[in-house]
Amino acid sequence: MIDNCSAILDEFRTIRKTPETYLKNIDKPIIGYFETYVPEEIIAAANMHPLRISPDNAPITIGNSKIESFACPVSINFLDQLLSGKLSFLQGVIFSRYCDSMRGVADIWQENRGKSFYHFIPYPTIATSESINFLSDELEKLAEHISDYFNTKISEEAITEAIRISNKKRLAVLKFYDLVKKGELLISSSDFFAIVSLATIMDSIEYTEKLERFIDQYEPVSNQNFGSNIKVAVSGIMLESMQFFETMDKVGLRMTVDDLMFGSRAFKGLISKEKAGLYQAIAKRYLNKVPCSVKGNLDLRIDELVNDCRESGTKGVIFYIVTFCDSEEAEYPILKKRLLEKKIPVIAIEGGYRISSTGQLLTRLEAFAEQIGERL
Ligand code: SF4
Repeated sequence: MIDNCSAILDEFRTIRKTPETYLKNIDKPIIGYFETYVPEEIIAAANMHPLRISPDNAPITIGNSKIESFACPVSINFLDQLLSGKLSFLQGVIFSRYCDSMRGVADIWQENRGKSFYHFIPYPTIATSESINFLSDELEKLAEHISDYFNTKISEEAITEAIRISNKKRLAVLKFYDLVKKGELLISSSDFFAIVSLATIMDSIEYTEKLERFIDQYEPVSNQNFGSNIKVAVSGIMLESMQFFETMDKVGLRMTVDDLMFGSRAFKGLISKEKAGLYQAIAKRYLNKVPCSVKGNLDLRIDELVNDCRESGTKGVIFYIVTFCDSEEAEYPILKKRLLEKKIPVIAIEGGYRISSTGQLLTRLEAFAEQIGERL
């Protein structure tokens, strides 16, 4: 890797480690969201910074006592960050109908938010012409709400420009994915995670420019010189633990494909021009993207994963289930069956957003590495 490329990678690593330091330098109001169905384009068109909130590492203080005991740990963490004031640097938050746990978080926050901006998008789960029309109207209402609340104007030109910027970012991430998939860009699992997860945290223009430079200046290293050589895919929803990916690195598992909410599922599919207008175009893209398990069309998710595994020569899939995430628990047996039919081994690992026992994780990943390593 040449020097400039290493410097960009170091920057990505630093921002991932301390995103709060990076965010302090954003000179725009910041609006938070929790999953990648909230269209960042509409926030950006209001000249605000869209920030996907990640679970943090701090101990839970009050989140546990305010929500049902069956809520998943990720949603409890989000609620805790909101109620404890850790997210008070945000000008507001936008929720969409995602899962029951997040619906609970949205309702509790609506009651406790004080004067901070709050919007809930009643999102359809499947893509039909009716649901696209419905979502298009709802996105227009979101834009009007932001405009009224912040006394700003969201023009058609601003939305068009925001779409252009987000599409450019998606293309850069997809190019990065493609190179990693083909083995033309070798990168550890922890660096892969750091780079991809930052796409919904950093300023889009800055991120795209850095990622494009990183790709351009990357000089191939040979497989032999690269420690982690067993190619795997990681599938799940909200797996945001750096420890998890570092443990993968330790046992020689290299993520070459991801099927994560903030990962490939957030970037596949561009917004194309629609005669019916900009909101229709945005609604169409978000309703047709590779879905999370909380939405419909499981076949599309599985087909994409299987194709990506084939193209990259991936030896196995690690499926990470957040405890109490009903939709992932329901989807896993079907996904497993389909992967095994294609002779792709799969392991399920359940846990929270933090890894409580790295020893246990290490043992399970080592066993999986041994199992699929023999198939190299
Ligand atoms: S991990 Fe599952 S249950 Fe938890 S917030 Fe995400 S989708 Fe909802």
